[in-house]
Amino acid sequence: MTGGQIGNVDLVKQLNSAAVYRLIDQQGPISRIQIADVSQLAPASVTKITRQLLERGFIKEVAQQASTGGRRAISLTTEVEPFHSIAIRVGRDYLKFSLYHLGGRELTSEYSEFFYTTQEELVDGLMTQLRTFITKNHLLINQLIAIGIILPGLVNPETGVVEYMPNVKIDNLHLSELVHNNFHVECFVGNDVRGMALAEHYFGASQDCQDSILVSVHRGTGAGIIVNGQVFLGYNRNVGEIGHIQIDPLGEQCQCGNFGCLETVASNPAIVDRVNKLLNQGYKSSLSELETINISDVCEHANLGDELAKQSLVRVGDQLGKAIAITVNLFNPQKIIIAGDITQCKEILFPAILRNVQNQSLQTFHSDLPIVSSQIEAYPTLGAFSMIKRAMLNGVLLQKLLED
Ligand SMILES: [Zn+2]
Repeated sequence: MTGGQIGNVDLVKQLNSAAVYRLIDQQGPISRIQIADVSQLAPASVTKITRQLLERGFIKEVAQQASTGGRRAISLTTEVEPFHSIAIRVGRDYLKFSLYHLGGRELTSEYSEFFYTTQEELVDGLMTQLRTFITKNHLLINQLIAIGIILPGLVNPETGVVEYMPNVKIDNLHLSELVHNNFHVECFVGNDVRGMALAEHYFGASQDCQDSILVSVHRGTGAGIIVNGQVFLGYNRNVGEIGHIQIDPLGEQCQCGNFGCLETVASNPAIVDRVNKLLNQGYKSSLSELETINISDVCEHANLGDELAKQSLVRVGDQLGKAIAITVNLFNPQKIIIAGDITQCKEILFPAILRNVQNQSLQTFHSDLPIVSSQIEAYPTLGAFSMIKRAMLNGVLLQKLLED
């Protein structure tokens, strides 16, 4: 059983390194003594681990003036600027690439339309554009430590295997392995909405709490649930398919095959479809002057007081609120975050959501529950970067880089 024992020793090593790195990242500048204190690790272990981190360049020493004016103590902080990652968002009809440094700053990005109808087209297009992005930015890229990819679909986050995508037939796509073999760098793959929920926790609206739920309304409707600072994952490792909660048994058919799913009411295409239907029936609205209508038009006209646009969005808020109330009862979050174009009319939308959450969840669960807009909407790749950040903080990536 030697193999098992070696495995355990490696795991302990990884966890200890991660604990030290995490403390320096989150509480730095911090001294070695404080690290030993907080982490409960032996001072000798702290010295050994910080030496490794210093040698690899992940942390640096800074002199701190003691508040009493006494001698200067040496503290440690993380070094983020030399370590770069590429974060990729695969949309249903676009690709976005960003280059981040380890502190979460986007250094450059590139957006392009991207249409694919088969797994092969998806993989070929992604690999080609990734290679182009790297070539184009090679002067900017310092140490490339990882590549992160988020996509609409179900992913096994441990193996990086894509199991399902809503818009294309997927057969056991080993995406993380493929990228790793082609670009010789670690690759993390995950669901887009769950990634963005993690990004809100690290960099956005839910930094101040440990339990939150992000509800995203774009082409589809999904949720990411953060419990105790971690993305909540169930047995099949994917939780948050809020878009497929049935809210109307006699509703429209959903792309999943069932009828009346939340997504058939509360997603951008569903909202626009319904407005068009009402306009065709002859309902009066300032929107009827437009040739074609998109979700931003609906929000804009609602904000200007158009009754049809307003009532359409109140209806969406009602249905979203009902589904969110279910998640509130199940998870008792400290905050609800809404992402999507519809937050442009949050003065109309959020009160409707709140009213339904208040009517349909436990009073103690919703009495002090803020409903807020996403803070990271301008950075759609941040979810992919957040998976890399998480792999540094939990040691999975950190340990690999230390052993390279
Ligand atoms: Zn459905």
